[in-house]
Amino acid sequence: MITSKNPYTGEEIASFEELSEDQIDKVLAAADMRFSSWKKTSFAERSKLMKAVAEELKKNKKEYAQDITLEMGKPINQSVSEIEKCAWVCEYYAENAEKHLADEMISTDAEKSYLSYEPIGVVLAVMPWNFPFWQVFRFAAPALMAGNIGVLKHASNVMKTAQNIQKVFERAGFPEHCFQSLTIGSKKIEAIIRDKRIKAATLTGSKPAGSSVASIAGEEIKKSVLELGGSNALVVFEDANIPETVKSCVMARFQNTGQSCIAGKRLLLQENIEQEFMEEFVKQVKELKSGDPMDTETFIGVLAREDLAEDLEKQVNETLEQGASLVIGGKRDKAYFEPTIVSGVKKGMPMFEEETFGPAISVTTFKDSSEAVDLVNSSVFGLGVSIFTENSEFAAKLVPQFDDGAVFVNDLVKSDPRLPFGGTKESGYGRELSKDGIREFVNRKTVYFN
Ligand code: NDP
Repeated sequence: MITSKNPYTGEEIASFEELSEDQIDKVLAAADMRFSSWKKTSFAERSKLMKAVAEELKKNKKEYAQDITLEMGKPINQSVSEIEKCAWVCEYYAENAEKHLADEMISTDAEKSYLSYEPIGVVLAVMPWNFPFWQVFRFAAPALMAGNIGVLKHASNVMKTAQNIQKVFERAGFPEHCFQSLTIGSKKIEAIIRDKRIKAATLTGSKPAGSSVASIAGEEIKKSVLELGGSNALVVFEDANIPETVKSCVMARFQNTGQSCIAGKRLLLQENIEQEFMEEFVKQVKELKSGDPMDTETFIGVLAREDLAEDLEKQVNETLEQGASLVIGGKRDKAYFEPTIVSGVKKGMPMFEEETFGPAISVTTFKDSSEAVDLVNSSVFGLGVSIFTENSEFAAKLVPQFDDGAVFVNDLVKSDPRLPFGGTKESGYGRELSKDGIREFVNRKTVYFN
């Protein structure tokens, strides 16, 4: 049985029987069968359906949001925003897929030569619980618009949400089996990736999960996309607009109760502004309202599972034992973790080296831009970095010096359907969203007419 438990109350919400091998086989057979007709549909037809999905999301956003909050503890207003963002990505691909996948003419010796982008078949998506709708939709909207079929293995703690996502597509009138959710634990993934009917896999989650999925896919010579963890730095230079920067840094770290791959986890301050910045930053973090995730006033909910809060507690405590200082917070109560600021954090300490997945931020100071770049790049992760400065020429010169998949100047790193999203180093490979995202799972067919 797979059980969903409310991390705020500890109560069991629902339990689900895991699918048997036979049932999994039926899902894959139905998906494969559907591909043979779905791939022939026009962009106009797919677009109409995808717009209906966006409408369904908007119409029933409260219903879907409530289950997210109950299953993983995200404050309800943030769950509603997540559903709205999913409607946006559906609209974006409904409007842009055809353009992104249009034939690309290439002049050669041929009478005509071009690249054609064609669907590849059934794609397996292994997804996490932190944005349980968004992570799935940013895969599903482009995949389905490209003519592929989606099969989802969602995180075990959000199986009700997984079923709701399948329901969204059904309610919107999508043909049966275009998108199916598998109620299974992660042990069953290997056989599914190896199945001939699965053509590729995408995973968002931790390094061990990503490494496992990618190695199995690699053995089978199947394409994979990995969107793994991050330890984004928020780099504040002495000329930054402090009030605006503080606001961005608070959001960057504490929204979604800190459980985001692109959250700003390492605050790097130029040493001469540390005091001024910290006064305002600490004040604003203290004002964040913790409480019942179902309460619309709550900004900090609970972590999605108690073990995740325990992991964070361990990282904070070990960092303090190694010489850093606790500015505020640091206490845990079951799945709740207080908004926490730890200063004096140095390379080698857990909060600097590891991904912290919750409402705790490390603070490190630097002397000049070359030290700042070194601190940013010394991370094993490379998802994104935010730099704050009023000097855009200086910022533009710094951009090429960072190893990351994204650099945001004077803003937090955020995902936007129009912009490619993905990382370098241990943050994974491949891109989601935008034109790049929809081109990950397609056959780039070279066509030559002589
Ligand atoms: P996991 O990476 O374990 O879970 C993400 C997904 O991968 C789930 O669907 C999970 O299924 C599945 N999975 C787990 N192990 C394997 C495996 N060996 N092979 C294939 N699939 C697997 O994340 P956790 O929930 O354990 O969180 C741990 C840490 O991972 C977090 O603290 C955070 O650092 C990072 N993380 C990063 C995310 C991001 O957005 N990049 C999102 C979530 C976590 P099941 O639930 O059944 O185990």
